[in-house]
Amino acid sequence: MTIAQNLKKIKSSLPEGVKLVAVSKFKSNEDILEAYQARQTVFGENRVQELTEKYEQLPKDIEWHMVGHLQTNKVKYIVPFVHLIHGVDGFKLLKEIDKQALKVGRVQNCLLQIHIAQEETKFGFDREEVLQMLTSAEFAALQNIQLCGVMGMATLTDDKEQVHKEFRGLKQLFSELKQSHFALNDSFKEISMGMSGDYVIAVEEGSTLVRIGSSIFGVR
Ligand SMILES: *Cc1c(COP(=O)(O)O)cnc(C)c1O
Repeated sequence: MTIAQNLKKIKSSLPEGVKLVAVSKFKSNEDILEAYQARQTVFGENRVQELTEKYEQLPKDIEWHMVGHLQTNKVKYIVPFVHLIHGVDGFKLLKEIDKQALKVGRVQNCLLQIHIAQEETKFGFDREEVLQMLTSAEFAALQNIQLCGVMGMATLTDDKEQVHKEFRGLKQLFSELKQSHFALNDSFKEISMGMSGDYVIAVEEGSTLVRIGSSIFGVR
């Protein structure tokens, strides 16, 4: 199947209101342009250098998302143009994003990455860390970030019940945070969960943003 055919198939399976981020990491500009011709305009990358190069080389109406782990010292390279940073996994990183966004006169959209998997290796806040940050005076002082919701990655497992449980937990935490801290903030509405292997489950559990790479572009 071609990239355009894969896209069409995935898009037609997504309910209204679920947005597709086409994860194009390690894929060529030609592949991205093929998806773009098929009217996909939202793309995700997980490495800063690759993201900035592709931003410079590809059409300017592409909405770029940073989906991977982001190092504090690299924030400055992407804040001038990136639409949404999915993987904000610590307060220090959020403060750096705010600082760099102030410098370029932007308000940077961000998602809080929550640790939901069993694997230790995946990044993210736990519930207590998020609540602690959100109630701090230091957080209240940030002016150049907009929190748009949460992001999570489930355990890589064949146990579908486990994956359901983890995504359901993320949705629950989102709802709790919405109620306790963002009831008046219409921007806090996104739950970024689901990749090629588990997006069907994620959508069943309330995902609003799916991040899909290999099912569109083929295996890397
Ligand atoms: C690579 C990546 C994806 C897409 O993964 P696929 O399995 O290729 O769909 C989604 N989210 C993040 C954070 C990624 O790094």
